Amino acid sequence: MHDIEYLKPSGKPKFIDRGITKAVELLQEWDGEPVSGIGLIGMPLSKTSISHSGASAAPEVIRKMMNSFTTYSIEREVDLQFAPITDFGDITPHVTDLKETQTRLEQVMEEVLKKNPGMTPIILGGDHSISASSIAAFCNVHGPVGIIQFDAHHDLRNLEDGGPSNGTPFRNLLERKKINGDHLIQIGLRDFSNGKTYRDYAKEQGITVYPMSEVNARGILGILEESIQQLQSKVSAVYVSVDMDVLDQAFAPGCPAIGPGGMNSDTLIAAIQFLSSHRAVRGMDIVEIDPAIDFRDMTSRLASYLILQFLLFRTSKP
Ligand code: CA
Repeated sequence: MHDIEYLKPSGKPKFIDRGITKAVELLQEWDGEPVSGIGLIGMPLSKTSISHSGASAAPEVIRKMMNSFTTYSIEREVDLQFAPITDFGDITPHVTDLKETQTRLEQVMEEVLKKNPGMTPIILGGDHSISASSIAAFCNVHGPVGIIQFDAHHDLRNLEDGGPSNGTPFRNLLERKKINGDHLIQIGLRDFSNGKTYRDYAKEQGITVYPMSEVNARGILGILEESIQQLQSKVSAVYVSVDMDVLDQAFAPGCPAIGPGGMNSDTLIAAIQFLSSHRAVRGMDIVEIDPAIDFRDMTSRLASYLILQFLLFRTSKP
């Protein structure tokens, strides 16, 4: 047997542990006691999607993709291994009754928030319909809530034609008077993906809309500064809703509604970093990833990366 360090017999692979922690190890199952910090909660519902969607599988895959990353930030020279994420698991949907599922999502979310007042949840969809339940729970607990929505679409379809789907979450919240139009800011909408009816409805309701051309011309950080300022005086908490289809199809192949002319992933990452460092932001969801149509889990991996950036910018100072 030789004594040359690092020269190992081939065969069984050996991992030399130099203190590298995989990000997936940050996830710690909730033990029922109140926690603070960041919490993950899955809402695996996609039967409410207008087009075919397997987004119910996303919470599991997004968690799994945390295995792609270490816990170390080279940019901030911070290791997150001592900043665990509480994993609340997934809310079980009803097998066939979608309205019952949506009620269940709202009730469970409300209970989790009430038991953990110091915790900032990251909610994993699911299609975008889950945001109606999640945000309603937020409003029940926090009072007036402001929303910053990243999306290619308004999601303001009427509820009469198809019921509460992934095309209706924000109309749903407005009609239920859970939110006001001037508390909703939509960022990243793009051409030929929305109907005029919904643009008109957005105007009537006083919703602020920043289409992609404005994001490109002004830069995302200026828009977000303005958005936070606009909301801060009116609401007691800000909720960030990230529909991954805000991204250009080149960056998010796993979204059911892909298209050109969208945001690049650097812009979305910078946006999440900015927002997570703001105390007014009390929660975020990530929706509309269908792992079955994704390419090499690119879209789910990006979602995992956004979670880590949120954690990094919430827990460390530059
Ligand atoms: Ca949407």
